[in-house]
Amino acid sequence: MIIITKPDVSPGSEIFSELMEYLRALQGIRTRVHEEHGAQQTVTEIYLIGDTMSLEIEDIQSLPGVERVVRVAEEYRILGRHADERRPTHFQYNGLRFGQDTLHIFAGLCAVDTREHVEAMMKALQENGLACTRMGAYKPRTNPYSFQGHGKACLPYVFELAGKYGIRVIAMEITHESHLAEIQTALEQTGRPTGVMLQIGTRNTQNFELLKKVGRQHDFPVLLKRGFGITLEESLNAAEYLASEGNRNVVFGLRGMKTNLGDPHRNFVDFSHVPVVKRLTRMPVCIDPSHSVGSRDRAPDGLLDTFHITAQGVIAGANMILVDFHPHPAKALVDGPQALHMSELRHFVEDVRIAREAYERRVALAGAQAGG
Ligand code: PEP
Ligand code: MN
Repeated sequence: MIIITKPDVSPGSEIFSELMEYLRALQGIRTRVHEEHGAQQTVTEIYLIGDTMSLEIEDIQSLPGVERVVRVAEEYRILGRHADERRPTHFQYNGLRFGQDTLHIFAGLCAVDTREHVEAMMKALQENGLACTRMGAYKPRTNPYSFQGHGKACLPYVFELAGKYGIRVIAMEITHESHLAEIQTALEQTGRPTGVMLQIGTRNTQNFELLKKVGRQHDFPVLLKRGFGITLEESLNAAEYLASEGNRNVVFGLRGMKTNLGDPHRNFVDFSHVPVVKRLTRMPVCIDPSHSVGSRDRAPDGLLDTFHITAQGVIAGANMILVDFHPHPAKALVDGPQALHMSELRHFVEDVRIAREAYERRVALAGAQAGG
């Protein structure tokens, strides 16, 4: 059960203290307080955990200071969609809206290699009207002898160049809590020219200590990727785990599942789960066609599999696309063979636009059917 307090009843107030005192005295119930900081106001929510079936909504509703009471299912208390759900399905970050109703393309380098390549990428993004990118500085690799990213050494020039080309948000994977401070320091040193969305990679979806650290900070939103060998429910629980520490600005990323049944793609594409995640939770959903497909194979109709699969995710309502590009894929230190070429960026953006328009028309048609 969630209690939403009246706008003027914040944790410091007397009414709030009295309300908490009453709730704490209830048998078999634990409480947890969350504050949701919006642009206009801060909303305070009290989570009642435990034997809430014995409580009557009307009784709790009538307590002083209470605005609304929502009875939630056991699962995904914070990020889930529940009966009578009116909590938002979007958040703002660095001037951009990330929601279940928006779409952003994060095209960029799988791994930062040289300053020249970063600049060529950022410039191309600006020329194509894109304001987000992906830039890997910390790379977990399957083989321990492979290149693991330039780490903090590359952050200052990545951030400076992002500022120069008007990039507002960079998706960047971190694999250890110490990377958070390194990113903060580099942003500080460069005068905060851009924003960062922290990425938790598929190998760390259930790294609960990392989830806690990332969940406790409020500076950056988080892209949590689905674990490639666990159920959807387990991955959504990981997102909930993170959010339960305080940070609810979470995007959920689909990136394919590790199974030979997906051959010849690198992973079994799971974008059919885009609408499922949107139904179960309030998170915007990201798709990663590059790490799903893992090649530049082309279908007989002339389209790369990566284009086809991106369109499949977008036409199903995806809200974010994480996609590998590289100015010189042959020289890329990570995932060159799957990268799209700079000359393909314009085509990619246009192809996504077509798929998005089709999605919007499908939603309008469904709305008209429901209305008629
Ligand atoms: C990545 O996006 O660079 C990446 C390593 O993805 P994943 O964690 O999905 O493998
Ligand atoms: Mn990669």
